[in-house]
Amino acid sequence: MAETNQGPAPENIRDTTPTVRDDAFTLFDLRVEVIATDRPMVCNHQAGDFFTLCGENLAFPAGQTFPLYPLAALLPLLPAKQRPTHANDWMTTDADIACPDPYCGGRFRITRTGTTTFRHADVTLVPLPPEGEL
Ligand SMILES: [Zn+2]
Repeated sequence: MAETNQGPAPENIRDTTPTVRDDAFTLFDLRVEVIATDRPMVCNHQAGDFFTLCGENLAFPAGQTFPLYPLAALLPLLPAKQRPTHANDWMTTDADIACPDPYCGGRFRITRTGTTTFRHADVTLVPLPPEGEL
C-alpha cells in the first residue's frame, strides 16, 4: 500500500511529477511571387505566378508550373526567411531575389504572410535536450 502524506510537504523534497514540456515553435508562412521588371523574362514564369510555403510544404496554385532553376536558387533562402531574424539583418529587409538566369528580368518577392506554430515532437524524432541544457 502506498504511503500518503497528508500534511504540508517538507521543503527539501522536490516535486518529481512529470510535466508536459512546451515544445512549440513558430515559423513564418511565406509567399513567393514573380515580379516583372523592365527587362523581359526568359524563363517560363509570368508576373503574378507564385507558390507558398508553410512549414516544410510548398504549394502551387492548381495548374500553375514553376521553372526548376529559379526554384533551386530560391530554396536555400526560404528556411531563413521562415525564422525570426534581427531587425538589422539583411535577411529581414531584403525580399526581392533575382532570377539566376542572367538574361532573365524576373524577380521573386518573398513575403511573410503569417505564422504557423508547430510542435518539436511532431516534426522530428530527435529528442529535445533536458531543460536548461540548450
Ligand atoms: Zn527567370
